[in-house]
Amino acid sequence: MLSQDQAKRRVSGLGFVFAMVLVLVFIIPPGYAEATPTMVNGYYVLKGQFHTHTTYSDGVYTPSQVVDFYKEQGFDVIAITDHGSWSGNPEAQAEGDKVGLIVVPGEEVGIDTESLSFIHIIALFTSRSVQKECTGDAAHSPQHCFETIHSVGGLGIVAHAYMRWEYWEPFLTNRTGYIDGWELCNPHEELSDSAKSTVISSGYIYTGVHDFHTGHDADFSTSLYQILFCTSRDVSGVREALTSRRTVVVHGSSVYGTSQARELYNSIPNPTPSGGSGGGSSHKRREAKEETEETKPSIPEEVFVTSVNADPFLVMAGVIAVLYAFSLIICLLVAKLIAELF
Ligand SMILES: [Zn+2]
Ligand SMILES: [Zn+2]
Repeated sequence: MLSQDQAKRRVSGLGFVFAMVLVLVFIIPPGYAEATPTMVNGYYVLKGQFHTHTTYSDGVYTPSQVVDFYKEQGFDVIAITDHGSWSGNPEAQAEGDKVGLIVVPGEEVGIDTESLSFIHIIALFTSRSVQKECTGDAAHSPQHCFETIHSVGGLGIVAHAYMRWEYWEPFLTNRTGYIDGWELCNPHEELSDSAKSTVISSGYIYTGVHDFHTGHDADFSTSLYQILFCTSRDVSGVREALTSRRTVVVHGSSVYGTSQARELYNSIPNPTPSGGSGGGSSHKRREAKEETEETKPSIPEEVFVTSVNADPFLVMAGVIAVLYAFSLIICLLVAKLIAELF
């Protein structure tokens, strides 16, 4: 026979378990569910980055883990770009479909010879590996590699040109016709302001990437991501936004992109869970712009602007944490009430 006290404690324990179940059922899934996409001028606003490694090359996470990681970081789209391997893409895409993250298939192709290291090309939207066709090509010209990427439906982006600037500079100044785009920056290094400006004003695709390997290094120590304005919320919409250059690269307080893209970026309303960015009053933006023009006179306004926005993703994380805590308190109160009723 249970004493009245023991019975009360047992019922109270049951109430607590009930409350926990409520929390798990009603609170956690909405946080994980696909957030409502923000629209600006009829475009879906997506947050992304297009250079990621997994255990299929020198990354420490499996493709699924990388996808989950970026989903949790509030991203809408990433590209999987392992060194000389396309094999991680099917797993990443399956996981992306599951959790609601768009995965662009890709690969980081090395066209190095021993004397030319870090001459890499990011192949995006490819249907297979093109590493074999590209190997050893760099000594003369990467043209064959870019053309092979095109032949399998892809786009070729010059990776981290700043690491081998003496090699890549002539390709930027003398337009070749076969290079589709350039990475402007990763969290640690970037093209010079004038090179960035040339990339954007010459009509190239441009990206700002993490070159993600571990997640424990400085990949997220700086705020770096890309905002895309897409006609559809899928791989083809992302491709169309990149090639139409309706995208901005946000790096700390700097925003790079075409004037159309920056206009769209500035018209994003206040922070949203998915791809939201911008924020800040127009007054603040005007101040920021004036400051840019004062401190960076060499950069044409067309392609370069600095703004001072609060990081919307941190704000969102704070809101979710507060809501979570609030719900937890409600559930505990309900549990206490149930226990007292018995
Ligand atoms: Zn590389
Ligand atoms: Zn890389």
